[in-house]
Amino acid sequence: MTKQDIKNIKELLDTPKHIVIVPHKNPDGDAIGSSLGLYHYLLKYNHNVAIIAPNDYPSFLKWMPNENNILLYDAQTEENSDSIKEADLIFTLDFNALNRTGNMESALSNSKAIKIMIDHHQQPETYAKFVYSDVSMSSTCEMVYNFIDMLDDINKIDTNIATCLYVGIMTDTGSFRFSSTTSKTHRIIANLIDKGANNSQIHNAIYDTNSFNRLQLLGCALSNLRIVQEYRTAYITLSQDELNRFKFIKGDTEGVVNYALSLKDVVFAAIFIEDKQNEIIKISLRSKGEFSVNEFSRTHFEGGGHINAAGGKSYLSLKATVEKFISILPNYNKALNHE
Ligand code: 5GP
Ligand code: MN
Repeated sequence: MTKQDIKNIKELLDTPKHIVIVPHKNPDGDAIGSSLGLYHYLLKYNHNVAIIAPNDYPSFLKWMPNENNILLYDAQTEENSDSIKEADLIFTLDFNALNRTGNMESALSNSKAIKIMIDHHQQPETYAKFVYSDVSMSSTCEMVYNFIDMLDDINKIDTNIATCLYVGIMTDTGSFRFSSTTSKTHRIIANLIDKGANNSQIHNAIYDTNSFNRLQLLGCALSNLRIVQEYRTAYITLSQDELNRFKFIKGDTEGVVNYALSLKDVVFAAIFIEDKQNEIIKISLRSKGEFSVNEFSRTHFEGGGHINAAGGKSYLSLKATVEKFISILPNYNKALNHE
């Protein structure tokens, strides 16, 4: 984002506007945290602001300040489409391609609103007039902090903004341990704590919310864990029957793939989750070091993301998807055994 971009955005925000903030489909902590952080900031300038998420988000995020103001596109499609049509400005947060918003894609691409993208995923599309894209950033929340800083408004950050931004930085960095965590990330986190974010309470609210069923489902996932030693790869499957048995709810499988990656000597991990309703297998991929799961997912599973964390989908059966996955591994022998 250039100085001129910032100047232009400042001018736009000088008078009250109708602003819509959009996170990606199946929003995670970073998508919801950045949306709410920006929402609280924009409200300070008396804008008319709405967050419209494509669909619902996990219950472990349902304590965040004013999260109950978040509108769900799939629940009230008509009203939300009108709001998108009438918007002056649309912020798209934590995604790089309009199809990441699912059914909202056409409403967004048809809207005449000025679009501003803030995102840290690879290969951003060019739909936005103003683009703040930086793949080196730990999270979109860190970027919203920088964005507020570029607008010379760090002093406007209050407890609500600090809490929301803390959540996304924490969840996207695996609690500050992934390689995307820099000294700058820690300085920002320190500032957010000074502004009122309660680190210990936030950590508890996000991570200490397990239900008995969720832990049983985790047990099931771990017993389905398989290792393909030759390619330093591990994967987990969860069938729809298994999800049903443990009364799966949104968010229950979050982070499960990391157990596969935590195996000594494993550099590539995957989880395959059957979704009978949408007739897809949802795939999450993680890696250590330089093996790019973004490239792997883009090439084979219609997805994308970051070098070390990406997602995708398959229209084959669970069994056939796993077979396809295993059959591809030899093509990556060099990269997988190089780390
Ligand atoms: P997760 O595996 O936690 O769902 O997602 C990991 C990363 O990959 C996130 O940054 C997410 O935005 C991205 N991602 C997940 N699923 C997809 C997908 O289907 N397409 C693309 N382009 N990115 C995805
Ligand atoms: Mn993110």
